[in-house]
Parts: sequence; C-alpha cells; structure tokens
Amino acid sequence: MTDSPLILVVEDNLANQLLACIVLEREGYRVDVANTSAEALERLDACTPDLILMDVQLPGQGGLDLACQLKADPATAAIPIVAHTAHAMAGDKEAALAAGCEGYIAKPIDTRTFAGQVARFLSPGRRQLA
Ligand code: MN
Repeated sequence: MTDSPLILVVEDNLANQLLACIVLEREGYRVDVANTSAEALERLDACTPDLILMDVQLPGQGGLDLACQLKADPATAAIPIVAHTAHAMAGDKEAALAAGCEGYIAKPIDTRTFAGQVARFLSPGRRQLA
C-alpha cells in the first residue's frame, strides 16, 4: 500500500486554498499548502509532491517565475506543475507552457471537474481517480 498522492497547492487566496483542499482531499489526495513562492520552496525542501498546483498571481515572486526556477533545478524538475489562474486570456496557456508548466487550469474551481483536471497531470501510477 502506497501513500496517497501529495498535491502542493501554491495559492495566496484563502478561499481558493480551502476549496482546492476540500475537493482534492475528498478524492483521497493529500494536500499541502503554500501561500507564497518562498513558502513553496520551504515545503519543497521538506517533501516531494506528486504535483504542484501553481497560482500565477502571487505576492512577491510570481507563480510562473517560480515554475521556471523549479524546472531548472534537477531536484524539482520532474514534478508536474499545473498553472492555475483566473486570467482566462489568450496567451495565458502559452505563457504557462513556456514557463515549463505541464498544463493549465482556469479559475474559478469547478468542484465537479477540478479533481479530474488535476488527475490528468499526475503520472499514471499516481492518479487517485480511475
Ligand atoms: Mn493569487
């Protein structure tokens, strides 16, 4: 028996944090939360999540900048990063992919589909959803 997949939610908005945690934990994921890029780096020193859900708009270092940094570091490069942003603008997806993110999920969170959207970006052996 292996541990449930661990998702690191990097998000400064408390309501979004809470909703993401509720939906993901309901599906059996373990969830860790960081409010800022600095906190995310601290968490990544302590654990290796199966996926990072990355808010793009963070105070201080932005989420896409942090994604670039993590993808340039051999210790974290293999962790899938999914950008999460309210800016449903043309070009956002491209910016996320250019930063090295594996994918992109638009806000707001749809509680019916969010866990499935996240699962698509987990390695097949780590998907909580069939
Ligand atoms: Mn934000």
